[in-house]
Amino acid sequence: MRNGDPAGWRELSQAKQNMPNDNLVEVENLTKYFPVRGGVLQRTVAEVKAVENVSFAVRRGETLGMVGESGCGKTTIGRMLLRLIEPTSGSIRFEGRDILKLKGAGLKTLRREMQIIFQDPFSSLDPRTPVGDSIGEGLLVHGMKNARERHRQVLEIMRKVGLEDYHAKRYPHEFSGGQRQRIGIARALILRPKFLVCDEPVSALDVSIQSQVLNLLRELQHEFGLTYIFIAHNMSVVEHISDRVAVMYLGKLVELADRIELYRNPQHPYTQALLSAIPVPNPKLRRERIILAGDVPSPLNPPSGCRFHPRCPVAIEVCSQVEPPLIDLGGGHLAACHLRQPSSVGITRPAA
Ligand code: SF4
Repeated sequence: MRNGDPAGWRELSQAKQNMPNDNLVEVENLTKYFPVRGGVLQRTVAEVKAVENVSFAVRRGETLGMVGESGCGKTTIGRMLLRLIEPTSGSIRFEGRDILKLKGAGLKTLRREMQIIFQDPFSSLDPRTPVGDSIGEGLLVHGMKNARERHRQVLEIMRKVGLEDYHAKRYPHEFSGGQRQRIGIARALILRPKFLVCDEPVSALDVSIQSQVLNLLRELQHEFGLTYIFIAHNMSVVEHISDRVAVMYLGKLVELADRIELYRNPQHPYTQALLSAIPVPNPKLRRERIILAGDVPSPLNPPSGCRFHPRCPVAIEVCSQVEPPLIDLGGGHLAACHLRQPSSVGITRPAA
């Protein structure tokens, strides 16, 4: 997959990077604590610090990949962007509007413009409803009463995602995993949104089907001028589709850079460890694997200072006491590590 870019994609990606800075989504100090309740009165006894003070922007027309181990907060961020989960604090702006202040009709309009593709579209489909009706449901909710026009738009979007007209009358259990994901994409696109959160959309699919769905997402992005946040834990998949990549660790954004820059020149030790685990397709080439000690700590009680310090192979004394700020090392390459300064020239990797 790493070498499987279709012709023209790299040129498109390059053109996007040369576009003037035009942010569609801006996130500032986004934080989400989930209360843990206990006792007879179900009082809050602790908090799961799922996301803490995360700031980033998504440029119009780009794909921002978001990676990290499970529990790092990436899915929580995706859901907060769509207000499926309410943040504890922070701000989210969409085309300059503060979406956390929207209610009623304003929020309903926003929902047309921001949609989500789930990892498992099957669970979001009614097993007793033909998929054509499920795809057209959004149009009905948003006031399109004309059944004939709804049907026309459903067939149009189904063809765009590679489904046949006769599929509209079939039920979810009659489709393969790849076809179900195409149904999920059609449902998300029927309202012609500007922004899509793709939450692990290919994780449950076979590798050959993954490529088809990824290529479809790219084609649709080009055709409809879409902006994506692409959430995944597979570094190869994220490299395949992203323009820029954000790396999350235990609720914190630890690195953000242009895709090529991040994969060639990772600055944060956690990113380096993630990249070192990608299999190399050439058996003659060997990559030095960085093995991290232990598991990800609990977000109920995250480590002090740098949250990565208990597992970091190059940690120094200050790491357990002071949290490193996310700083621009140059050219929009951001990293949060005490060993990194704008003039830094490389972390010495530990011996394997
Ligand atoms: Fe490792 Fe310290 Fe950098 Fe954190 S701040 S990544 S512990 S070196």
